[in-house]
Formats: sequence, C-alpha cells, structure tokens
Amino acid sequence: MTRTVAAIVARTPDGPLEPGVVERREVGPRDVRIDVVWAGICHSDIHTVRGDWGAQTYPLAVGHEIAGVVAEVGAQVEGLAVGQRVGVGCMVGSCRDCANCRAGREQYCERGFTDTYGARDADGTITQGGYAASIVVDEHFVLSLPDALPFEKVAPLLCAGITTYSPLRRWGAGPGVRVAVVGMGGLGHMAVKLAVAMGADVTVLSQTSSKRADALGFGAVAHHATSDPAVFDRLARSFDLIVNTVSASLDFDAYLGLLDFGGTMVNVGAPPEPAPVTLFTLFTNQRSFAGSTIGGIAETQEMLNFCAEHGIVPEVETIRADQVNDAWERVLKSDVRYRFVIDASTLKGPSGATAA
Ligand code: NAP
Ligand code: ZN
Ligand code: ZN
Repeated sequence: MTRTVAAIVARTPDGPLEPGVVERREVGPRDVRIDVVWAGICHSDIHTVRGDWGAQTYPLAVGHEIAGVVAEVGAQVEGLAVGQRVGVGCMVGSCRDCANCRAGREQYCERGFTDTYGARDADGTITQGGYAASIVVDEHFVLSLPDALPFEKVAPLLCAGITTYSPLRRWGAGPGVRVAVVGMGGLGHMAVKLAVAMGADVTVLSQTSSKRADALGFGAVAHHATSDPAVFDRLARSFDLIVNTVSASLDFDAYLGLLDFGGTMVNVGAPPEPAPVTLFTLFTNQRSFAGSTIGGIAETQEMLNFCAEHGIVPEVETIRADQVNDAWERVLKSDVRYRFVIDASTLKGPSGATAA
C-alpha cells in the first residue's frame, strides 16, 4: 500500500512552495524506507522547479540532500538496519548493468540515471524528493552516514560534497596543485574545504570581498573579488585547475585565461544557457574545458568517509519548513552561508497528512 506523507511542494514553476503531500511506494524486497530528518537546499532544486532545465510535472517535491533514519527494510536488504543514520543524494536508480554502472559511475549510466526528484521512475510515477517526511529508496542508492559527522550538518555532502569531491579527485587536486574555486555558495564552500584537505593550494574567486574572511577561514590561501577586472590580468596563468560552481553564465574566456599550461576548467555550475568559449583560449597553454556530474555511489561513500576522517562538515543554517521560500530567495541573492538545511520535523502537510 502506498503511503501519503507530508511534504513541501511546488505547484507551479513560479509560485511559492507550499505544504502538501507526496505518495511513497510500498517497501519492496530491496527497498529502504527512510524517515527524513534533515533536507538540504541545493540551487538545482530552484533551477528545476523554475523550469530552467526543462518543463516539469507539478506538484513536485524537490530535495536531493537527504539525511534520515531507516524506518523499514525490505526482506532482501543487507547491510542496512532499522534505526541506522543514512543519506540519499541525487540518484535513486540506474540500470546497474551498463559499463558505467558496472564501473561504479551510476551518474553516467548509459540509459540515464533516475533523479531523486522530477524523473520518471520504473513504475511510471514521477520521483519526489527529500523535502518530505519520508522516502522509499532502493538500498543501492542509500549511503551510510559515519557517526563522526554531525547529523544536522551532513545532508549537504550528499550533493554539494560529492559534486565537488568527484572532479577534485578526477583532476588530481593535491599538494602543489593550484586550485581556484569560482563562486562560494553551497558547492563552492565544499570545494574549498575538500581541496584544502587534499593538500591543494586553494584560491577563491568570488563576486565581492564579502566572503573573504570565511574563505581564508576554510583554509584558502587567497581570495579575490572578480568585480575588479584587474584581477584577471593579475592572476593570468596562475592555476592548474579551476572548479566553476557558479549557477549563472560567466565570461568563460576570462576564467580560462587564468589557467597555466595544461590546466583544466571543470564546470559543475549549471546555468541553462550554452557556455561560449573562444577556441584560441584553449589552444593557448593547451587548456581543457570540462564538466562533471555528481559522483558514483561508491565514490559518495568514499567522500563521506573522507569528510569523517578529516573533520570536514558543511556550514549550515537550519530552518523550519515554513522558512523555505525565504531561504530560496536568499540562495538566489548569493546570501547563503553556506547551505540551508530544512528540519523535517517541522513539516506539516495539509490537514489529514501524517508526519511520516
Ligand atoms: P549557490 O549556493 O547559489 O552558489 C552559487 C554561487 O555562485 C553563489 O553563492 C555566488 O558565489 C556565485 N554566483 C551566483 N550568481 C552569480 C553570478 N551571476 N555571477 C557570478 N557568480 C555568481 O548554488 P549551489 O547550490 O552551490 O549550486 C551551484 C550550481 O551548481 C547550480 O547551477 C547548481 O544547479 C549546480 N549543480 C550542479 C551539479 C552537477 O552535478 N554538476 C550538482 C549540484 C549543483 P559568490 O558570492 O562567491 O560570488
Ligand atoms: Zn544538488
Ligand atoms: Zn547503467
């Protein structure tokens, strides 16, 4: 029997989020039902609801940074137990059979992975995300949360953490590597903390100097405000790797000019517009312009363990469910330090909906 649970839903692309409900499927043999305790707010939630990346089906509950407690396990579930703290990120399914899935790169599944929200699920329904009292997920896509990570801070690792960890590893952030992080919001601040822990020399490129003290506090060696155009001359050919986390379009050539020989600019920020690049900027210094999507499940567990080992936690501001619209406005104004996390115990569905 499906379960109706309290949620925060978008009913239109432009309207405010409202209390609502979502349906959760019955727990199948390999499923886990999780009572959501904390749900992070990612800029992708806003892009999706606003239709930046394409039309959606409404009502829609978003949220793909989920920390919760196992409430029920299917008969064939191994390694997860009722009462355990677990996480769910951006994926709840993939074919598990293609070369990428077999290699642990489910996010590059050749048949397309199933997004935690707004995707057509195997049973034909549209997936509903983590701004909800509970969720049912195939055990393969459920992560164990190390005890060392504080529960109310861990949720943003499930998207912001892995989305920056994966390209930092792929492009070899480590001692002697000069890394620039562009944009210091949810993803950007995790990129800084992770790259510092990997031993890289990290510089933050932010629109203004308002986040300078925080950037240095996270271990960056330098911070520059890109509102000053002279910065691009001063820092020409200064970096081996640029991680771009900005949710809007940039002057990509200007940033590429900051790469030294053989350097790469990897984009994780996802504005809806194409990203124009002058090829001569790439010819110079044999530069690369790249992209990266979240991370695989095994790599996500590796990232969680890395954070536990190195004492890395996101900076969060916890909010009640009724503050979510204000929080979205603040994300859009780059006024988030550095991730909002919804306390799921404050969710109230319309009358009649149960808490879990
Ligand atoms: P966020 O918290 O809003 O951070 C984005 C930051 O970019 C802002 O804090 C701001 O930093 C900077 N910024 C915003 N508007 C700007 C503009 N017009 N010009 C220059 N800089 C600007 O967002 P987020 O949650 O970290 O997500 C960032 C992007 O990554 C979004 O597009 C999201 O959809 C995408 N994303 C991609 C993946 C993936 O798998 N590739 C996964 C998750 C998210 P400063 O104040 O420091 O300038
Ligand atoms: Zn996200
Ligand atoms: Zn696959």
